[in-house]
Amino acid sequence: MMPDTQTRLVGVIGWPIEHSLSPAMQNAALREMGLNWTYLAFAVEPERVGDAVAGARGLGLVGLNVTIPHKAAVIEHLDEIDESVEALGVANTIVRTPEGRLLGHNTDGAGFLRSLAEHGHSVGGRAVAVIGAGGSARSIAWACARDGASSVAIINRTVEKAEEVADLVRATTPLAAVSVAPLEGREAQEAVSGADVVIDCTSVGMYPKHEVAPVVPGEWLREGQVVADLTYNPIETVLLQAARRAGAQSVDGAGMLVHQGAISLQYWSGQEPPVETMRAALLGALGARK
Ligand code: NAP
Repeated sequence: MMPDTQTRLVGVIGWPIEHSLSPAMQNAALREMGLNWTYLAFAVEPERVGDAVAGARGLGLVGLNVTIPHKAAVIEHLDEIDESVEALGVANTIVRTPEGRLLGHNTDGAGFLRSLAEHGHSVGGRAVAVIGAGGSARSIAWACARDGASSVAIINRTVEKAEEVADLVRATTPLAAVSVAPLEGREAQEAVSGADVVIDCTSVGMYPKHEVAPVVPGEWLREGQVVADLTYNPIETVLLQAARRAGAQSVDGAGMLVHQGAISLQYWSGQEPPVETMRAALLGALGARK
């Protein structure tokens, strides 16, 4: 529908932002939901984050998604943050209430858990191995611990960063069974092979460096495991290929991307978003990139 005097604005801020897949995914959903809203991508320089949030407040935007490098910097400009933002120190969604208050949420971990659930899996009572200790690994490790995993092992090339994530999880969730291992070696192998759910939160295998060895050897994977990769380009990464060969069940990264966006849209609209339409739009936009 053509913008008119009733059209409301929502969008994403980041720097750079031109590669964002969110406008394609969110506008497809808005069309299907019949909402007279437009979702735009805003390139916001790091020193302009406060101005951008003030602008959103003043113009009455429905809300914003927030991506790299602004996820931590936006927080001081918000009126309220939820428990996930409090624990993780990063927000990816801002919701404007009818009274004009700005609330910060982080939908990454919940998006990942919904993606697992749509494949029929959960982390409740299960041993989880998280590979990586960057921004996404923090959200995922925290969400798994919060959602009742029996243990979480954090495995990273730089072990000091894994220690930091483990400390955060221990300090902000009731889970005590949180361990750390360097990526290479016996401890990592035992943690990965012994896990029920293995989640790759590294960028290893991401296009254009997609023809590499998986972040953990395929021999460490086994039948009956769930192996998830956050990387979504390509959809079937080298790790998921190895998982398939090992007889494990795989979960690709596109589902998390769709669901974290769907949860944001649910916050903004109060309605159930059309997840399949969002997925089709995302896959279409990804395909058009190559
Ligand atoms: P990040 O903060 O930069 O962290 C990158 C992680 O990858 C670090 O743990 C790093 O280890 C590790 N790593 C990088 N290259 C490596 C290599 N050659 N060998 C071993 N480890 C390596 O990145 P992020 O934001 O967490 O994102 C990670 C991946 O998740 C990306 O592919 C991103 O696209 C994807 N992602 C997907 C979604 C989704 O919705 N599906 C959401 C967020 C992120 P060191 O600490 O040792 O450097």
